[in-house]
Amino acid sequence: MKRFKILGTNGDQDVCDICGRVDLQKVVWLEDSESGQVFAAGTVCAAKMAKWTVKEIKSAAREADNRKRKSIMAANSRISDAACKFRDEWSKRTGRPTQGNFKAWHTEWLATEEFETLETARDKIAA
Ligand SMILES: [Zn+2]
Repeated sequence: MKRFKILGTNGDQDVCDICGRVDLQKVVWLEDSESGQVFAAGTVCAAKMAKWTVKEIKSAAREADNRKRKSIMAANSRISDAACKFRDEWSKRTGRPTQGNFKAWHTEWLATEEFETLETARDKIAA
């Protein structure tokens, strides 16, 4: 098993944790499976640290980003399916048409526990 796991890239941090370089547009997040430590680095430093090539780092980062994007898309689709279901039930329950009443049913939907749970799940994926 590889010691370092590439978690993905983002712009949450603009400093390389290895060399201290600043103003990076994006950083690669790595997890050291031995120490459990997570750190951010530029691709060159990440490659040196993991003893991989820059190309391997970039490709692993791209894969991780794609995986995350797909998970978030799936989570969004679950949320929107649940919203439609709520909307239809709301319409039946209140006898009001779904059309033109977005604000009414949507506000109610946002206040439900189901929405909270789905949102939390998505936030976890996106984090
Ligand atoms: Zn660096």
